[in-house]
Amino acid sequence: MSAQSVDQLKSIFRGELIQPGDTAYESARRVYNGMINKCPRLIARCADVADVRAAVRFGADNEMLTAIRGGGHNGAGLGICDDGLVIDLSHMKGIRVNPSDKTVRVEAGCVWTDVDHATHAFGLATPSGVISTTGVAGLTLGGGIGHLARRYGLTIDNLLSVDVVLADGSFVTASSRENTDLFWALRGGGGNFGVVTSFKFRLHPISTVQFGPTFWSLEEAATVLRGYRDFIKKAPEHVSGFFAFLTVPPAPMFPAHLHFKKVCGIIWCCTGTPEQTEQATRPMRSVGHALLDHIGPVPFPAVQSSFDGLYVPGLQWYWRADNFTELSDEAIARHVEHGSKLPTMHSTMHLYPVNGAPQRVGRSDTAYSFREALFAEVIVGVDPDPANNEKITGWCKSYWEALHPFSAGGAYVNFMMEEGQERVQATYRENYDRLVAIKRRYDPNNFFRVNQNIQPDAVAKRSARSGSPGDGPPVS
Ligand SMILES: Cc1cc2nc3c(=O)[nH]c(=O)nc-3n(C[C@H](O)[C@H](O)[C@H](O)COP(=O)(O)OP(=O)(O)OC[C@H]3O[C@@H](n4cnc5c(N)ncnc54)[C@H](O)[C@@H]3O)c2cc1C
Repeated sequence: MSAQSVDQLKSIFRGELIQPGDTAYESARRVYNGMINKCPRLIARCADVADVRAAVRFGADNEMLTAIRGGGHNGAGLGICDDGLVIDLSHMKGIRVNPSDKTVRVEAGCVWTDVDHATHAFGLATPSGVISTTGVAGLTLGGGIGHLARRYGLTIDNLLSVDVVLADGSFVTASSRENTDLFWALRGGGGNFGVVTSFKFRLHPISTVQFGPTFWSLEEAATVLRGYRDFIKKAPEHVSGFFAFLTVPPAPMFPAHLHFKKVCGIIWCCTGTPEQTEQATRPMRSVGHALLDHIGPVPFPAVQSSFDGLYVPGLQWYWRADNFTELSDEAIARHVEHGSKLPTMHSTMHLYPVNGAPQRVGRSDTAYSFREALFAEVIVGVDPDPANNEKITGWCKSYWEALHPFSAGGAYVNFMMEEGQERVQATYRENYDRLVAIKRRYDPNNFFRVNQNIQPDAVAKRSARSGSPGDGPPVS
């Protein structure tokens, strides 16, 4: 990357070009996970699609390792890279709600609070995650699991079209009618195929939901988990609530005697009426002796930002994940053993229920394949102090190892660290070969490789090892 080539880029670039030594560099290279400390050579903070196209061409011409940054929330830090180019979309924040056909068009630098704010004004929402500062782009391209999943599906199940800048700098739209193979791959395949510059989502009539926690003591954790497993399988789809091991934070909404107490709990977010919610959740809330139990009406954007104050940017963060189709009593015993040993106040384990609407999509209908899963599990070691990194990482790994034998074999890509190709393939399963074929067509040189990577020559490599012909299935 010569000074001259940067000057040339500058002459056509409307956004900011940030290099080491610039005032903005230190803050621009920071991502959500404080454990990630990478130093790119150039951060191209794009103002518009023209800038994105120029940045992609610049990265390709200069043969630079290139990362794409949406919200910068990726646990593994895949929105940034060392010694390369970062295509930073964080200033592309346009949003247009169309209330008449209940859709929203969102630019790729938005985080979920931007979307919730815009759509809530019309009494509408689309499924996303559970923290409002997460990027729309990365979350969507991996799948998107959150409070509304049981009723309305994953975020990708509500994705109608995307605009994409491909590895050669060309611009295409992908939807169920145009570039259908690309659209299939982008629904779960992450940042492997191009820079998505905007997303169009379907909206649902969600305004105020029934939200709140039920907490139990750890002594009751096995009983609660068994009850939860059986309850959620049959619960109506307007009921959602994820199970957690957590430490009650010292926040004013919790009684002082529970502050810093390790508990297990369910965080409810239900979209029925208060009466429907009370009736449907009461059997679960009546299990054992709850320490705290409160569900009440809360505007959806407030639900989405309810954890933001606890999980602020810059904490040290290490996580591991798996999908589960069942939760045996033996698996529950291991959860109780490890979940009771939360190493720090911020560390937690969540079991997100993904039965219901996500299961009505076939496992080969989108790149995201675990449609039969009952739970997406994520074990999260978090702390503000880097001195505790070994403690949170060690706890997380040993918890994961204890539960992995009971899992369905793969995880949700957005809850993974950099765990190697075997884990990526285990996650996409039979969809992997089709992803490779699409990767070969859209990004044969693997320009977009700072991600949970689909390697364009992966099928050939595997075949060479096994001695069978190397071509994957045809690209449809
Ligand atoms: C506190 C926290 C809470 C979370 N909660 C949830 C949750 O409830 N549900 C859930 O599903 N996930 C959740 N996640 C995981 C989240 O979905 C991933 O971390 C996701 O990668 C974040 O997207 P981002 O745009 O912020 O990430 P970034 O770090 O900016 O990017 C992550 C990846 O996405 C790719 N990418 C980003 N933008 C683009 C683009 N425009 N075009 C193409 N590729 C792009 C990049 O290549 C990179 O590999 C959470 C993460 C955190 C840290």
